[in-house]
Amino acid sequence: MSPDGPRLDRTKLLAARFRAAQDRPYLATALYSLTVVEAPHVPTMGVDRRWRCHVSPDFVDRLPVPQLAAVWIHEVAHLLREHHGRADRLPAGSRHDHHRVNVAQDCEINDDLLADRLPLPADRIEPATFGLPAGLLFEAYLSLLPAHVQGDGAPDCGSGAHGLDRPWETGGAGGVSAVEAGAIRRETAHAVRTHVRGRGAVAAGWQRWAALVLEPRVDWRRALTGAVREAAAWASGAVDYTYRRPSRRSAALRPVVLPSLRRPVPRVAIVVDTSGSMGEAELAAALTEVSGVLRAVGVGGNRVTVLSCDAAVHVVRRVHTVGEVRLAGGGGTDMRVGIEAALAGRPHIVVVLTDGFTPWPASPPESTRVIAGLIGAGAPQPPSWITSVRIDD
Ligand SMILES: [Zn+2]
Repeated sequence: MSPDGPRLDRTKLLAARFRAAQDRPYLATALYSLTVVEAPHVPTMGVDRRWRCHVSPDFVDRLPVPQLAAVWIHEVAHLLREHHGRADRLPAGSRHDHHRVNVAQDCEINDDLLADRLPLPADRIEPATFGLPAGLLFEAYLSLLPAHVQGDGAPDCGSGAHGLDRPWETGGAGGVSAVEAGAIRRETAHAVRTHVRGRGAVAAGWQRWAALVLEPRVDWRRALTGAVREAAAWASGAVDYTYRRPSRRSAALRPVVLPSLRRPVPRVAIVVDTSGSMGEAELAAALTEVSGVLRAVGVGGNRVTVLSCDAAVHVVRRVHTVGEVRLAGGGGTDMRVGIEAALAGRPHIVVVLTDGFTPWPASPPESTRVIAGLIGAGAPQPPSWITSVRIDD
């Protein structure tokens, strides 16, 4: 509240929310779950973890109702997509600059909102602002954003987005608990599905989101995704020269040394044990998960090698798509053969999918991370230098 008493134009602000909920009825529950708090010091509008929406009176005065309606949807999208929880799970190194995290999150939201023809304010951030493709998750944008995107001047959508408590997040009683938030997400995802079934128009981005919320993902997917994501972050750091030593000549031409914007994309090899007793369904699910996370972190097909390893017949075969991997059956697995063949391509990451009944290399490779997806309930534990994830549905 300002010293002169409340001056927030609530009528206009709530008219904008009403409009947003009318136009996109599947978002109504989520929109009406937000508590409005007048906050003169918030730059524009921001949300906290308890679904309180802190609003600058000047911002409301400045924006026409249709744009304000779009901003309502933007803010609630941070909460529906659980951006704060996902920010908490980022590796410490990429979480420290909450401004940069916020920019990446706005990229994830705004490409979908613009595709949905929402009139966002002119100074909005979108992937195209940085020459990046649409349709990625914020974790991927975070690693792809240019190095100069950091610090003040970036948008601040509050702790409900980037996860860091802001000084203006005071006031406003109650709010939504984490359990209630989960229920609102599921209810909204169901509403999206129902709206689509009734032949209502729902933007593709919201449909993809609803599928993620409603299709139960068991823990191993998250674990495998986390392991691959973490290894990819390590690999791009390992090969990234943030400050390149300029030649004398270019140093003379340029007054300052700029950080290099290049962040090389890691090379990944996937080694599939085809000779074990693995279930075909689990293998397919694991492969889908690994290719999905690689795409999400921006590792394209040309950086991924898939090797199918049948050590019984000492054949390591390079396949072009994961769909080509065929289980051969039979016993006698030796994934050392497959890993050795994979290392010849100098990958940064090797993902091994196996039933675990195999000898492993005696020591870790020099500069390659190894992740094992262990398929089947009774898989023995690999050596500790291998990040292992048990895949058991
Ligand atoms: Zn935002």
